[in-house]
Amino acid sequence: MYDVIVVGGGPAGLSAARAAALKGVSVLVVEQEQSIAEHVRTSGVTWMTDAKELGIPRELYNPVSGYRFVSPGNKASIKSSSPEACVLDVRRTYQHLAELAGDAGAVLRLRTRVIRPVLDQNKRVEGVMLSSSGVPEEEVRAGLVIDASGFHSVIAKDLGMAPEWVNYGVGAEYEALAENVREDEWYLMVGSAYSPAGYAWIFPVGGRRVRIGVGVGRPHSKANPVGMLDRLMLERPGPLAGYGRLTPLEFHYGLVPNEGLRSRLVGNGVALVGDSAGQGNPLVLEGIRYAIRYGRLLGECAPDALSYGIDLLKQRYETVCRNEVESKIKAALRVQSRWLGLDDAGWDKELDIINELSPQEFMQFIRSDFSTLTMARLATKHPKLAVREFFALAKGALQDVYGG
Ligand SMILES: Cc1cc2nc3c(=O)[nH]c(=O)nc-3n(C[C@H](O)[C@H](O)[C@H](O)COP(=O)(O)OP(=O)(O)OC[C@H]3O[C@@H](n4cnc5c(N)ncnc54)[C@H](O)[C@@H]3O)c2cc1C
Repeated sequence: MYDVIVVGGGPAGLSAARAAALKGVSVLVVEQEQSIAEHVRTSGVTWMTDAKELGIPRELYNPVSGYRFVSPGNKASIKSSSPEACVLDVRRTYQHLAELAGDAGAVLRLRTRVIRPVLDQNKRVEGVMLSSSGVPEEEVRAGLVIDASGFHSVIAKDLGMAPEWVNYGVGAEYEALAENVREDEWYLMVGSAYSPAGYAWIFPVGGRRVRIGVGVGRPHSKANPVGMLDRLMLERPGPLAGYGRLTPLEFHYGLVPNEGLRSRLVGNGVALVGDSAGQGNPLVLEGIRYAIRYGRLLGECAPDALSYGIDLLKQRYETVCRNEVESKIKAALRVQSRWLGLDDAGWDKELDIINELSPQEFMQFIRSDFSTLTMARLATKHPKLAVREFFALAKGALQDVYGG
């Protein structure tokens, strides 16, 4: 019997576990893999401000200040005076979060799979069934179960709170040693040569390591990102040619939801966080900072929810999260649906728009930090018509959410 059981030892689950344990409740984290971040399912890009704010140690990320885009017939380049983005050492970062959770008193159990929720006669979740090889199935009870199982939302799906995602991204990536690397510069590559519905990337991890990947949006495309990635590694189109000899060291593969927040984040005895909840910026499919931030918020609220009832999580966790991210996600989805409709010529023109942005505007945009004021200014005052039209679209999405 624990106060809180956390399903999944990713950034959301580990952050929730630490925050709850720091408040003095007993916490069990159940992770199916043999080690934390055994399989990396992410490219690990986040932002310097978030990395600092979230307390990620400096040696766990590589700062980036050059943001390059390539389409079949165009390119764009933005450079910030100091690094605004960074690429995480994903395994060490997640293990760092696990250390913090353990130090706070959370119990971590590896190579154990949660197979289903356990319900009482009122259909309230009162625990989970665990399975680990060589051991009989085991029931463990808790006052609150946190579903931080990522894309598959294992508990919420079983409860009927989480239908299968229809819109999602699937990505494949090699972490490779490259002969020539600019450590402070990334590439995003768009157009049919790179991905039919998505983009390809080169992210510098630090030293001579880079992550080279391809992401594809489902259901818009059925293309297999693994085959496309292998072709890129072989044919080296565009900027890949400049990286010289590439020696793959790790293969990463993952799925990420791309629909915005689930309709409910809190149920009877259960709360969802991270990818399981659909928290993330759909524009470039980044969710790590949201997973950590909302994991912490949920964990901090958990003890009060145990004392005063789970409805408290609706106000203090779900409503806060919706207010903070829902409008941004909707605006990002609007831009994304425009991007999904672009052909190669359309992408060439889109890069002209990106080239017009100042580093600060670009950052707000790529982070989906769409502020109504900036959007309104760009949509009305920018000297280029194409830029005005583009930001009118994002602004329109904000107005749909806020009205007016
Ligand atoms: C190809 C790709 C690239 C991405 N790139 C970026 C990026 O550059 N930057 C960024 O911020 N985000 C990126 N994302 C998104 C990011 O990876 C997620 O938003 C983030 O990992 C969400 O964290 P989480 O803790 O919710 O889920 P996860 O990281 O998926 O963790 C869930 C954990 O639960 C465990 N688990 C699942 N089921 C069970 C079970 N039944 N029992 C026990 N354990 C279980 C899993 O093993 C896993 O460890 C990318 C995603 C993909 C697919």
